[in-house]
Amino acid sequence: MSLDQLDMRAGEGADLILRRATVLDPVAGIDAQHDVVVRDGKIAGLSPPGDAAAEDLEEIDARSLHAFPAFFDPHVHLRTPGQEHKEDIETGSRSAAAGGYCGVLAMANTEPPISTPADIEALRAGARAAASVRVGFLATVTSAMQGEELTEMASLREAGALGFSDDGLPIRSARVLRRALQYQRLCGGAIALHEEDSDLSGAGVMHEGPVSAVLGLEGIPPVSESTMIARDAALAGYEGGRIHVQHLSAAESVEAVRAAKAAGVQISCEASPHHLCLTDEAVRSLDPHRFKMNPPLRSESDRQALIEGLRDGTIECVATDHAPHAAEEKEVPFEAAAMGVTGLETAFAALHTELVIPGAIELSLLVERMAGGAAPFEIERPSLTPGSEANIALCDLGAEWTVGEDGYESRSSNSWCGGKKLTGRVLMTLAGGQVAYRLRSFSLGVAA
Ligand SMILES: [Zn+2]
Ligand SMILES: [Zn+2]
Repeated sequence: MSLDQLDMRAGEGADLILRRATVLDPVAGIDAQHDVVVRDGKIAGLSPPGDAAAEDLEEIDARSLHAFPAFFDPHVHLRTPGQEHKEDIETGSRSAAAGGYCGVLAMANTEPPISTPADIEALRAGARAAASVRVGFLATVTSAMQGEELTEMASLREAGALGFSDDGLPIRSARVLRRALQYQRLCGGAIALHEEDSDLSGAGVMHEGPVSAVLGLEGIPPVSESTMIARDAALAGYEGGRIHVQHLSAAESVEAVRAAKAAGVQISCEASPHHLCLTDEAVRSLDPHRFKMNPPLRSESDRQALIEGLRDGTIECVATDHAPHAAEEKEVPFEAAAMGVTGLETAFAALHTELVIPGAIELSLLVERMAGGAAPFEIERPSLTPGSEANIALCDLGAEWTVGEDGYESRSSNSWCGGKKLTGRVLMTLAGGQVAYRLRSFSLGVAA
């Protein structure tokens, strides 16, 4: 489906020129300086630098800036309905826009969970009223996430559910997932899986290894994730279904996905910026605001395996697993704190700082993977090809900033990057043809 089938607030299409921007769209094969002309919310053309006639268009001096296809996040928690004190469609989509995203997919583990066509319809209406980027919604695989009865998957699809996930919880029963895969073959929609063997995870609160031993905290072993991936890949292969593995954290998991792909299973997967940038060493601080999440931060060799997976295409996309929490759920001892961190506003900058600048991956690879989350859900990826809807992230790769010093667009502040100095910043985002975000200090300069 095309990106414009996802819901957002109606508004005026942008009319502007990004004068002399360095335009990089690796998928479209664009990598050069251009005047990017946006007219009525569409990319009208890429002209030689300095050539495009200004006419009635707003001019933005972009000579030291990069224009990328805006990003797409297939895994965020907007917390509505039920926990609007943490986030809602308006604040979550604003947070996405501030991070350079033009689209996100919202998980269904709300209160109550999204399990009926009426739930999906209500959320879609909410997005049309309040979303500043395109928002798609997943429904749960099992009714109310109880893990037993399947939801009415076909009617949910008709109501516009873009996929299915019980994220927050694994699907414990192989029989239940098998049945879901059988229905998926009839009604479509990727099944996104939070892979975890709850028996192996037990009461674990961090990665099981030398650091958990020193801290005396209960650990979650990597096999808690990888054994479930292997099981579910086998089920998907057997039924001819399609699965998307969420938030890969362990080397064994990358290996399991790689093996499944080699065997011809329809499987895709994502990794989160915090797992690509941090290890369990960070947990020594016992700071649950930034470093407690599920799956947990793992070892350096796991992190390296994720980076290698990102490089070789085993991992096709970055997903933030943006998980806002209220302060009181985090201002408790590490063991008791809620799991999850926010990530939309910092994903690109963090990965640019931690992986691109040190040379671990190329900028073009990062740009490609930041929007790679659309394809697993059969959504067309954002593109800078003339004629496309304008979905553009305008970035200053040299800008240094401290995360959180100007606050957050998100309603919650449990950013894993809080207080960190990052290099590279999104100055402006066009989403769905509209100007969705503009950094306050980024004033409009009329190009000379
Ligand atoms: Zn999860
Ligand atoms: Zn999640």
